[in-house]
Amino acid sequence: MTELIKYTAAETASAIANGEVSAVEVAQAHLDRIDAVDKKVNAFLHVDTEGALAAARKVDDKRAKGERLSPLAGVPLALKDVFTTRGIPTTCGSKMLEGWIPPYDATLTRRLKDADVVILGKTNMDEFAMGSSTENSAYGPTGNPWDLTRIPGGSGGGSAAALAAFEAPLAIGTDTGGSIRQPGAVTGTVGVKPTYGAVSRYGLVAFSSSLDQGGPCARTVLDAALLHEAIAGHDPLDSTSIDAPVPAVVEAAKMRDIRGMRIGIVKEFAGEGYQAGVMQRFNETVELLRELGAEVVEVSCPSFTLALPAYYLIAPSECSSNLARFDAMRYGLRVGDDGTRSAEQVTALTREAGFGDEVKRRIILGTYALSSGYYDAYYGSAQKVRTLISRDFDAAFAGVDVLISPTTPTTAFPIGERADDPMAMYLADLCTIPSNLAGNAAMSLPCGLAPEDNLPVGLQIIAPAMADDRLYRVGGTVEAALNDKWGHTLLEEAPAL
Ligand code: GLN
Repeated sequence: MTELIKYTAAETASAIANGEVSAVEVAQAHLDRIDAVDKKVNAFLHVDTEGALAAARKVDDKRAKGERLSPLAGVPLALKDVFTTRGIPTTCGSKMLEGWIPPYDATLTRRLKDADVVILGKTNMDEFAMGSSTENSAYGPTGNPWDLTRIPGGSGGGSAAALAAFEAPLAIGTDTGGSIRQPGAVTGTVGVKPTYGAVSRYGLVAFSSSLDQGGPCARTVLDAALLHEAIAGHDPLDSTSIDAPVPAVVEAAKMRDIRGMRIGIVKEFAGEGYQAGVMQRFNETVELLRELGAEVVEVSCPSFTLALPAYYLIAPSECSSNLARFDAMRYGLRVGDDGTRSAEQVTALTREAGFGDEVKRRIILGTYALSSGYYDAYYGSAQKVRTLISRDFDAAFAGVDVLISPTTPTTAFPIGERADDPMAMYLADLCTIPSNLAGNAAMSLPCGLAPEDNLPVGLQIIAPAMADDRLYRVGGTVEAALNDKWGHTLLEEAPAL
């Protein structure tokens, strides 16, 4: 029975469909696992035992009646606590939303329910998705299952840790600057930031609306593809949702053939600050891609070196506006409402008490960057850099099918190491941010352990907008070749919890 937690999502779905195991047994096995390990890991902020078992029973009933099951029917999933869930708390890792129960489901939540995916609960995250370590959660940090004294990445550290700790075979993240891919990289799991607009943002609590993108997290490329197809597609409730067919990502994940593909190494993502073992595994993977029949060339994207500063003007600017809604009147926390204070005073006291340091830092930075007299110099310049980055991508994709780089410059760092050094923290997303600014698609998948610390290294693959299938084609092929080479999957090397 404990082996059920080791199944991939694809294996779980077929075992349920074939009647080898019931969806209730699968859900219970994962709930038991959460019970056994999550005090140590702290991946979940809320576990919905009743809801999960009820969803599982529904799948078993459908099967008993001979109804057709969807491809992920009965598969458990861990949902980042930034998507609204009707009747289930949604905190965004913030004190500000403690006790708030949304009256509606996000489109993504609704699609998961319609696909009969079993939502186990809500996962820990940096407050309002701001951070790279999950240390900015108001509910305590999450541990990296490879080494509980290290960070699981962020902001979606809870989702990635739930996968690596075998608490769920599927998870959902959001990626504004890297929060799906960087946690994937440092936990040895797969994470995909779909093309901007591919997955609805309706009910995704906004951080930076022009960058935020929900996406799939899993332990295998095929599982990520199955989840991608379940959540992607046009949504009239999101004005930036793309009205076009979802690329055939499941088919691409199964191709296992990259002969003739042209792959570009981003030259700028190497050098000072990149850990030796990360570069070693990355370079070995480049060799593997060549052996698999791809043509690998080096590509220069000079504007990428400006991506981080541009991001730290655009994202805080949008956040300062988006988070203005937390005014103590509409949702969650209200402080000092004792009849003696004005509404403005209650708002101020609530925001002072409800937001953590990083969120305040960004609101102040964003408000400053948008203030009259500074707008052109800061926000305006950052938007111009954004255009230059898009042009670099366009030029690169004129010559190659996908780009690759390490996902992160280093492996998982110790909890506490960068907590008081925002600049060091921000560097974790050096390689992931350009794709958010340009809106294209990108994946991280494990490509080995760094020899110096035995911690996972991520390979990033980047594809043009609406060519998400290329990520899965390359990712699925590399994953299969690496597993062949190792004789097992990377997560089988993780120490037991
Ligand atoms: N780490 C980045 C930040 O702090 C990205 C966060 C994200 O993608 N949500 O903004």
